[in-house]
Amino acid sequence: MNVRTHPFSPVSLALACAFSSAALAQSAPAPASQPASAQHTWALVLHGGAGAITRASMTPEADAAYRAGIREALTAAAGVLDRGGSSLDAIEAAIKLFEDNPLFNAGRGAVFAADGTNQLDAAIMDGATMRAGSVADVRRTRHPISLARAVMEKSPYVMLIGSGADDFAAHVHLEQVPPSFFFTERRWQDLVRQLEKDGSPIPPRPEGAPAPSAKPVAAVEGADTHRYGTVGVVALDRSGNIAGGTSTGGTTAKRWDRVGDSPIIGAGTYASNGSCAVSATGTGEYFIRFTVARTICALVQYKGMSLQAAADEVVQKDLGAIHGDGGVIALTPDGQLAWSFNTPGMFRARLKEGGTPQISLYRDEP
Ligand code: ASP
Repeated sequence: MNVRTHPFSPVSLALACAFSSAALAQSAPAPASQPASAQHTWALVLHGGAGAITRASMTPEADAAYRAGIREALTAAAGVLDRGGSSLDAIEAAIKLFEDNPLFNAGRGAVFAADGTNQLDAAIMDGATMRAGSVADVRRTRHPISLARAVMEKSPYVMLIGSGADDFAAHVHLEQVPPSFFFTERRWQDLVRQLEKDGSPIPPRPEGAPAPSAKPVAAVEGADTHRYGTVGVVALDRSGNIAGGTSTGGTTAKRWDRVGDSPIIGAGTYASNGSCAVSATGTGEYFIRFTVARTICALVQYKGMSLQAAADEVVQKDLGAIHGDGGVIALTPDGQLAWSFNTPGMFRARLKEGGTPQISLYRDEP
């Protein structure tokens, strides 16, 4: 019998994965990458979440710990770019560190959903080819950003969700961990507080989580300081190609497998060499409605706005008008760097080749 399969049917996918995963990688529109001879100055902007981050709400230890975590990620990405690596490699390197750092709401340290699980979302986009990969509600894959990249590079799809996404991760040999790997006591206590406030039942502690300690968790910051805390990176490499990536645990006490903006291409993550790269953080529902990341790039592309003006237009005016809280980082292939946020603070940093790293937390910092 002659079995005919749709090119993207599960049967054809399984067959193709078995024989040639490369052949199935997303076909891309004509690449907009720069000629290899053109040497560009690399640049990088990253964020570690936006929220009620003020000097009053942060202990000196918390301030120092966040700056150290941001510096570590910035240094890793800068190292990749400085060695001539790609913007995608730089983004993945930095976000993997953030995902392993329990201070940030991504990977280990992710916030808990109301049912006591960690549900992880991530996305990455390549501005040179406009290929993209994203995942939502991942529960067993240590590095969701690497999984998003694998979706982009090793599948014909843009977005995978839930257990299917984790299954694909195992299929492409990405590290799998038990769900308790992502557990942190601090995030668990955030969930308990939130559910008590809502008058909702507290789920049992996740299987495999350490027993509660008699000692209270050291408060490193005020209760609402880091209610969000998604991480994101945008980068420009020496070939002139830009890319963007985002990773998050979403919002505390989320329900019904809620998915935010981070893995939605055009909302929380976007990149095109024809305009700009953006990663967002904040209450995702607002960012989805305004397709924030793509709208900023469209203002740059079609209206010729400067990157900073475009970011401010969307974050301060559009989002501000509907009380959508959060911020963005962004960069263009010609080296414009920007951030814009309407919260009291945003963990953020930027660096251009040959320059000095700028790491800032509070609104009154540059
Ligand atoms: N934007 C993320 C979401 O809504 C949360 C965050 O940025 O912290 O899922």
